[in-house]
Amino acid sequence: MQKNKRMMVAGNWKMNGNLTMLHQFKRSFPVFENIDVVLCLPSLYISETSSANFSIGAQDCSYYESGAHTGDISLTMLAEFDCKYVIVGHSERRARYNESNEIVAKKAKAVLENGSVPLVCVGEPLEVRDNGSVFDYVGEQLDAVIESCKGAMDNLVIAYEPVWAIGTGKTATPEQAQEVHAFIRERLSKYCDDSHSIRIVYGGSVSDKNAAELFAQPDIDGALVGGASLKMDSFSDICLAAN
Ligand code: PGA
Repeated sequence: MQKNKRMMVAGNWKMNGNLTMLHQFKRSFPVFENIDVVLCLPSLYISETSSANFSIGAQDCSYYESGAHTGDISLTMLAEFDCKYVIVGHSERRARYNESNEIVAKKAKAVLENGSVPLVCVGEPLEVRDNGSVFDYVGEQLDAVIESCKGAMDNLVIAYEPVWAIGTGKTATPEQAQEVHAFIRERLSKYCDDSHSIRIVYGGSVSDKNAAELFAQPDIDGALVGGASLKMDSFSDICLAAN
């Protein structure tokens, strides 16, 4: 699948995996020359990983540079290990750690200022989809990020991840995903010269079965993959569909 910009496929291992698995990926994951492949690993494994076949990402970061923040990891520490992608505002962190739109926006800004790439997650829970206010909800999440990152959005990646599709096996249809991606792009276009250069990737039960159909949509520039990124064959098939 060739689009006029590089697609991105990022795996999010969440709190899964082990060293044996990681070493297998490092040894045997195929090279995909036409796309950016990223593995967002549990923090402990970041120092163990450098691979010619994929880039390394973190699943969260602090927006502070240093100090008394027990349990947190700074962007300068991540950069020391060549970790240049960071997931920000994943719905699991928003829900379980009360990360507000403002906190997510601060993190996105800090990642950009550090010269890294934030994968900023937005997406609505089921009740919001059911009551028909997806655009309001996602728009608010997006506006907070736009407000704090205005003027420096070149490296920004937005991941549209409807909460009801995450880990449920219930993917958004390509049409549902495309509709929200187009909305996001339209919103971004008001604040940057070329919103088409900003990658908007889809996440939520992406698999080797549904990836190609999703990637065929004009505003879907790749995927953020949870469960299926833990199996090397499935993850490489998803990358192949984007390549
Ligand atoms: P999933 O997770 O692919 O397992 O639905 C996606 C994510 O949470 O990023």
